[in-house]
Amino acid sequence: MKEKGPLGLTIAALRALLWHGARGICPKCGRGRMFRSHFQIHRECPECGVVLQPYAGDSLGVYAVCYFLTVIATVLVMAAAYLLFHVTSPYTYLGLFSVTSGLILFGLFPNMKGIWIAFVYLLTGLRRQL
Ligand SMILES: [Zn+2]
Repeated sequence: MKEKGPLGLTIAALRALLWHGARGICPKCGRGRMFRSHFQIHRECPECGVVLQPYAGDSLGVYAVCYFLTVIATVLVMAAAYLLFHVTSPYTYLGLFSVTSGLILFGLFPNMKGIWIAFVYLLTGLRRQL
């Protein structure tokens, strides 16, 4: 028997859905690219036509996902710097925090935004009216 997660999805299906989002692929059809450039998203999926951000409040969710994933990854990098290299200077940590969080935030922005869109798809099916 397959293990079921929230909303009756199998864990594998939930993981596949979020993985599609992280790769910038439409969570509904699994074929269309969500982004036309690094920071610009298509209004609709070029393959299936689903509106990718149908709700006005979507930006807040994107900010939350970006913030938490960036902070978690940055803290892990800083912990690794402490454990592996025994860094003690607060200025080094300040610089490390700034550079690491900036690289993660701007470098992985489409991946994190895609995760949010996949999450919204999981909750709403990306329908305009619930
Ligand atoms: Zn699609």
